[in-house]
Amino acid sequence: MTRALFIIDVQNDFTEGGVLGVDGGAAVAAGVSALLAEHPLAYEYVFASRDWHDIGNDNGGHFARDAAPDYVTTWPVHCVAGTTGAEYHKALTTDAVTFHIRKGQGRPAYSLFEGATEAGQTVTELLSEHGVTEVDIVGLATDHCVRASVLDALEHGQRVRVLTDLVAGVAAESTLTALAEMAHAGAVFAVSDAVE
Ligand SMILES: [Zn+2]
Repeated sequence: MTRALFIIDVQNDFTEGGVLGVDGGAAVAAGVSALLAEHPLAYEYVFASRDWHDIGNDNGGHFARDAAPDYVTTWPVHCVAGTTGAEYHKALTTDAVTFHIRKGQGRPAYSLFEGATEAGQTVTELLSEHGVTEVDIVGLATDHCVRASVLDALEHGQRVRVLTDLVAGVAAESTLTALAEMAHAGAVFAVSDAVE
């Protein structure tokens, strides 16, 4: 059994004060850091993703241009590569991160499986290369990028556990729907205290 942690999009634009700030985002950042500090041997590999959009274009229709964003498929400009908004939240300690995954360059990308390392390795390649069979997933936002990453991980044959005290959603209703979808697809829920 080889276990990895996926930290999804714990970035300034997705935490309090950001363009698409999620309530509880900063607490998730601090909680993930505490988890890694308290259990340094729990994960053989730690993947952290960042939404990393192009500046100067609408990233395949992902950024609302002429109309107001619908917050379903179009969004305000966020997580532009190289800006403060795209950086990890300062409470997230990234020392333990093995693979930094960037996604969304020029296109919409919700799941970390749509991203790659700076060297161009995909998540699928890395999981296979390192024999990862189980993943715990934390981060932002439960009803968007966490949802998509969990469903993709299950589809790729991983055993998936969502640490429910280390995720936060945009809206209560869509978060509940997303959690139900994850459970239906085979995800297991646990709290970070259960991590050994
Ligand atoms: Zn985006």
